[in-house]
Amino acid sequence: MSWESNETKKPCPCGAGTYTVIDRSDDWGRFETSWRMDCPICSNTYSLYTYDYYNSGLREQGHKWVQTEIYDRSIELKRRAKATKEAAVCLSKERYLPVLEEVFRKSSKKAIWQALNANIKWYKSLGTFYKHTKNQEKREYLSELFNHSDLASVLKVANAKDEEVERLLSNSSALESEAEALLHG
Ligand SMILES: [Zn+2]
Repeated sequence: MSWESNETKKPCPCGAGTYTVIDRSDDWGRFETSWRMDCPICSNTYSLYTYDYYNSGLREQGHKWVQTEIYDRSIELKRRAKATKEAAVCLSKERYLPVLEEVFRKSSKKAIWQALNANIKWYKSLGTFYKHTKNQEKREYLSELFNHSDLASVLKVANAKDEEVERLLSNSSALESEAEALLHG
C-alpha cells in the first residue's frame, strides 16, 4: 500500500510568499490534507486552525490560517466555554442526581428507560439500555446522564427548573459562539 502525495503552492495571507497544501491519497481511496506555511513573516503571525465539518453527512477536515492573536483568543474562549459547561454539569449533578434517585427509587429498569427515553435521546433502545447498564448501579448510570445528555432534558426528567444552571449553559454557548465567530468570521 502506497501513499501518493501532491503538493500545491498557494499565496500566503500577507501576500509576500506561499504556503503548501499537501494532499495525500492511498490505494484504498483514503485522503489526507495538511497545510504547511512557507512564508517566514506569516509563520510568526498566523496559526493553522484545523476543524471538522460535515459535507453531505461525511466528516471532513477544514484548514484555515488565522492570525495567531485571534487564534489564541478563541482557544481561550473555548477553554472558558468548556469550563463553564463543566460547572453546569457539576452543579446539576450535585443538585439533581439525588432527585433522580428519589424519582426512580421504586422503578423497574424498564420504567426508568421509558421515562428517560421520553425526554432524552441517549439510549436508542431498551436493549441498548440494558446492555449498557448491565454492571452498573442505578446511581452510576443516572449520574452518567449528566455528562452525556443535554442538561435541559435531564432537568426535565428531574422536574426541575434551575436558573443558575440555565445561566451557566447560556454563558457557555455564548462563549462558544464568540470563539466560532472569531475563527470563522
Ligand atoms: Zn506571508
